[in-house]
Amino acid sequence: MKIQDLERTALFKIFVRHLGCYQGDPTSQELEKLAKTKGHMLLIIRMRWIFLLMLCVYGLYAGSLLLSSSHDYSHDTALLTIPACTLLTTACYNLFYHLFYRELSHFALSNHLQILLDIIATTVLIHYCGSVFSPFWAIYPFLTLEASLLLERRRDTWIFCIVTILAFGILIAAEASELLNPVDFPFITEDQQQDPRYALLLWTWTVVMMVAMTTIGSHIVRVNRRKELSLKQLVVKDQTTKLYNRSYFFKGLNSEIQRSIRYGHVFSIIFLDIDHFKEFNDTFGHLEGDRALKELAGILRKNVRRSETNPPYDIDIPCRYGGEEFGIILPETPISTTAKEPCSPEEMNAVAFAGRIQHEIAALLIQGKRITVSIGIAAFPDHGNTPDELVKAADDALYHAKRTGKNRIVIAGETTLS
Ligand code: GH3
Ligand code: MG
Ligand code: MG
Repeated sequence: MKIQDLERTALFKIFVRHLGCYQGDPTSQELEKLAKTKGHMLLIIRMRWIFLLMLCVYGLYAGSLLLSSSHDYSHDTALLTIPACTLLTTACYNLFYHLFYRELSHFALSNHLQILLDIIATTVLIHYCGSVFSPFWAIYPFLTLEASLLLERRRDTWIFCIVTILAFGILIAAEASELLNPVDFPFITEDQQQDPRYALLLWTWTVVMMVAMTTIGSHIVRVNRRKELSLKQLVVKDQTTKLYNRSYFFKGLNSEIQRSIRYGHVFSIIFLDIDHFKEFNDTFGHLEGDRALKELAGILRKNVRRSETNPPYDIDIPCRYGGEEFGIILPETPISTTAKEPCSPEEMNAVAFAGRIQHEIAALLIQGKRITVSIGIAAFPDHGNTPDELVKAADDALYHAKRTGKNRIVIAGETTLS
């Protein structure tokens, strides 16, 4: 089954909902976020392959050295087989993640699971390869870097840092108290292996390294994410109104069309133009004109739907299309004129939304003067199947509103509403 088909199935949606990832079909911005998560997952999967390959080469080299030692392996096959099985198991779940990372990226806890599996595999490897004398404790700090990259929240990275410290602490405490028999390892005497002071020293050093790596790792990732976000804001936002710009409008429109085709949804776009704005500028000056644009943008921002997750993202996409013209994409919103005002953002329709913002803009008072807007509305798929067709339909409706007296809302292909 193709991924697109899988995402449409009821079973998949139930899974996604119950595992706390997304409520319903992902929005365009959620799809963008998912693409980023997939990228990070693939990076970690590739790194794990490289690491496994290096461990296998090292294992062969170490194994040949161990076999040449005077150690008697006849009672101690676990020393060779368990580390090999651990590497094999790691390769298996890495293969699973490699094959299904696109689907797994929808599940909030799939990244937590792969980090947890890595911690368990490393702890088993340490136990069977010399315990406190094993050089493999040095893998732990890498796991904290993995967590910093894969997990959105810094708190989760710290939780994994603590889980790792505890896993190692419990292992060496269990060995020191003989709850767990230390595995005999060549080159290390039993006295050395069971000296709790050395175990404590090494554990403390591991804690120091883990805390340092978690602090550094999460700091680097946080700084990078912030830079990435501010660069993205510069590229996609209009600097006067802080709304999305025209090029992002087309990007959003394109992805909303793809998404609506994929999930069989409808959506609407709204075009809005300030009436007699040249006159306003001529009377009050361009600075006041800019203030009016900002105030109007504030009204749009206040009325669009937004998901207050961390980080938050917009569900509707309000844009400054150019000059004193604005475009808003309203995903999963029918054009319907039947719903009565007031309606909640969830049960919104494009006409009710347009009416609400028209009303709020008309109440604005700048330099004692009120401004009005003309609005054109078009919907997918009724008025077009491509970005150009939809924009033309909404633009024609707006033009019709201007021609028939301004300060009104017109639906594409219909007569004046108000
Ligand atoms: P209509 O009712 O037909 O839309 O008339 P209008 O005067 O609003 O439209 P017109 O296209 O004639 O003029 C648009 C005006 O918008 C002209 C321009 O000075 C103003 N404008 C465009 N961008 C900005 C801006 O960034 N800041 C300010 N202050 N004014 C702007
Ligand atoms: Mg105008
Ligand atoms: Mg205009």
